[in-house]
Amino acid sequence: MPAVVYRLRGWEANSMNVAAILKGKGRAVVTTRPDTSLQAVAEKLAAKKIGAIVIAAGDGRIAGIISERDIIRAIAAGGPNCLSRPVSEFMTRQIVTCRESDTLDQLMATMTALRFRHVPVVEDGALAGIISIGDVVKHHIAEVEMEASALRTYLCAG
Ligand code: AMP
Repeated sequence: MPAVVYRLRGWEANSMNVAAILKGKGRAVVTTRPDTSLQAVAEKLAAKKIGAIVIAAGDGRIAGIISERDIIRAIAAGGPNCLSRPVSEFMTRQIVTCRESDTLDQLMATMTALRFRHVPVVEDGALAGIISIGDVVKHHIAEVEMEASALRTYLCAG
């Protein structure tokens, strides 16, 4: 058994990081400007089949993030008239971001603790990608399957 523990610790140390996830999915991030109407944002979310859009300020920095939940909340609070208002009125401004060196485990912990499903990747102050809960779950399952397969090999060899 100690051998298995050792090997599992090795995998944890080598746990997939954000850079590896981006290598597979690409770095494209759907963004829009703060003055875009909420209606246009909803249309973009639907057209791109995504759950959140990053709001980019004029200088290229991130001004906020808007997710489908924010739009539902805005409609519930103010009715459909909110759809003609600028997205800047409804976006979240305190954004949690990650770096390429962050691990899958760190991302999962952050998303679970803070209860959101999208984390923009920022390197040297610039937007470098976005990780969704879907990306995290997909890669976590792949890691778990790899561990299970290696454990089966170890047990059969033993
Ligand atoms: P989500 O689960 O991503 O649909 O987002 C749920 C709530 O968290 C919404 O109010 C979002 O604006 C907000 N949110 C989403 N992602 C982030 C993030 N990376 N940092 C801060 N807030 C976020």
